[in-house]
Amino acid sequence: MQMATEFSCDLRELKRVHRALRTLSASNRALLRAECEESLFHEFCRVAVEEGGYRLAWVTQAEHDETKTVRPVASAGVNDGYLESIQLSWADTPLGQGPTGTAIRTGKPSVIQNIQTDPREAPWFEVGVAHGFASFIALPLLVEGSIIGAITIAAPEPDAFGADEVALLSETADDLAFGIETLRMRMRHRAAEDTIRRMAYFDALTGLPNRLQLQERLNAALDVARAENRPLAVLHLQIGSFREITEALGYRESDLQLQEIAKRMPTFETGEIVARVAEDAFVVVLPRGDAEVARGCAKRILATLAAPIELSGLLLDSRATIGITLYPGHGADAEALLRRAAAANFQARQTGQYYIFYAGGLDTECTRRLALMGELRRAIDGDELRLFCQPKVEISSGQVSGVEALVRWEHPSLGMIEPDRFIPLAESAGLITPLTYWVLGAALRQSYVWRAMGVEVPISVNLSAHDLRDAQLLERVRDALTTWGASPEWIAFEIKESTLMNDPAGACKKLSKLKQLGVELFIDDFGTGYSSLAYLQKLPIDSIKIDQSFVSAMTSDEDSQVIVRSTVEMAHNLGLHVVAEGVETRAIADCLAQLGCEDAQGFCISRPMPASQYVDWRAGFSWIAD
Ligand code: C2E
Ligand code: CA
Ligand code: CA
Repeated sequence: MQMATEFSCDLRELKRVHRALRTLSASNRALLRAECEESLFHEFCRVAVEEGGYRLAWVTQAEHDETKTVRPVASAGVNDGYLESIQLSWADTPLGQGPTGTAIRTGKPSVIQNIQTDPREAPWFEVGVAHGFASFIALPLLVEGSIIGAITIAAPEPDAFGADEVALLSETADDLAFGIETLRMRMRHRAAEDTIRRMAYFDALTGLPNRLQLQERLNAALDVARAENRPLAVLHLQIGSFREITEALGYRESDLQLQEIAKRMPTFETGEIVARVAEDAFVVVLPRGDAEVARGCAKRILATLAAPIELSGLLLDSRATIGITLYPGHGADAEALLRRAAAANFQARQTGQYYIFYAGGLDTECTRRLALMGELRRAIDGDELRLFCQPKVEISSGQVSGVEALVRWEHPSLGMIEPDRFIPLAESAGLITPLTYWVLGAALRQSYVWRAMGVEVPISVNLSAHDLRDAQLLERVRDALTTWGASPEWIAFEIKESTLMNDPAGACKKLSKLKQLGVELFIDDFGTGYSSLAYLQKLPIDSIKIDQSFVSAMTSDEDSQVIVRSTVEMAHNLGLHVVAEGVETRAIADCLAQLGCEDAQGFCISRPMPASQYVDWRAGFSWIAD
């Protein structure tokens, strides 16, 4: 007799475990197919009832606010208004003592074996009996570290949930939670990819096509022009006082100005292209445009920009200059037409004209620039360059993770000149390579001095496009390391994203060789160069530095924050470390910490300082955690 009872008990237990098992495997199948959270919840409830044979299954979501309410979001089985009639909470109050509230509050499965005898079910006893429920189990849903709600299952018989069944159902709940995490991650990836795709072909600030898109479309337009023997015009437009406005008012204002300028650009019916190609430069392509059409268009644009732009009560001068090239007269390919239009634009500024057609051989430099260039050569050979450095810190710990070498020119009569004024000059005069070698040598020498004092901090050196093309670069880097008895961890290199895009394949090869030396590589000014995800994946880089224009605006401008967030996510997906530049306030640093960005560099940590002052600065620096 006793054996028969035991046997029937075992059999009952076995059946129950079996239905929990069916629920588990059917819900796993649902996981693989789900497209959104709602459908995943519904599918789960359906299989629990249909495959598992339970009477009612439902999923609730917990509000994480002071109300601590619990809301059903999906259900299946015999409901008959049951869920609508009950009130649930996960607070430690009588309404929170049921299985669902308890599971959410404690994070553990909660079982009511018999509602007839369990006082915790008192608030719902009558309605429960009326619906034919005798026992309940609730399982918490732990998603991304927080309990988002619970799964609750009702059975018609008492003592329905034995230990094995609880274990299996817990496993099911964990799988469901994992499914939600996967879905959420998938959604975030999708959003990040969309942003990246947009960034790859459009300028984030103005929404206009960027340089990459311009190049592709200009090539296509030239193919048509060639096939049909028609002309084509390229207009290169640059805003006159843009840099002064940025310097005087900051990036936020100059960004607004650019957006307004973009709005004033002409809109066309067919085929014409208006693109933003640099910070303050736009290009307009007119398929079928001859000299007369181009002149008309240039005049129209200049007229619309002649009226100043009103911003924060100021009237900003947004007048521009335009350089024009024509296919086939001024060039046969996109590269030549764009380059010469830019040269013509430069010429227009030098000669005080508003627009000008390209005239061969007019590659003029004003005498002042020429003079300064001559002096720069002397400065590099002589003793006029100064090594400055700016630290970057790990946001979470405040540890200095490295310093960046930033050069200054102490001109005998003009005083300290900022790099923005002479690096472009050095680049166009073929002096950047000797300058880079000066910086490399100075950086290693400084490193040597620091290490003798027990200070081990990597110093990163900026490389220009010309440096990447320099056949001797590797040998020079190796020689410099040998001279100072340095190992590769002493230095790192930073290469601007826009530089890479000039010659993606060549840059990739050169970077691989540098990487083989064992030095760390950073992509600088990331977000301004329009590189594609596919290309980044191929590069042997360690870190990206998000451009300061996005970072310094991120606490005031939502778009910038979205860009920073998706850039951090994308970089992490590629296994890259992220540095944010232009961290001007602690609020920005805190926001970056939340986004998971590792390192910060910017005025709120330190402005660039003479490298010789770094050790003293370090001794006095503290980064107090919140
Ligand atoms: P970069 O490589 O992007 O360097 C960062 C620039 O941002 C530095 O300007 C730095 O002073 C500035 N900066 C740092 N933190 C903040 C901040 O919180 N807010 C703002 N608004 N700005 C911040 P710097 O020293 O004037 O250098 C300008 C550029 O000149 C550098 O930009 C780099 O492209 C170039 N440069 C400087 N030194 C060298 C060098 O040795 N070689 C080469 N090729 N380029 C150099
Ligand atoms: Ca840099
Ligand atoms: Ca930078």
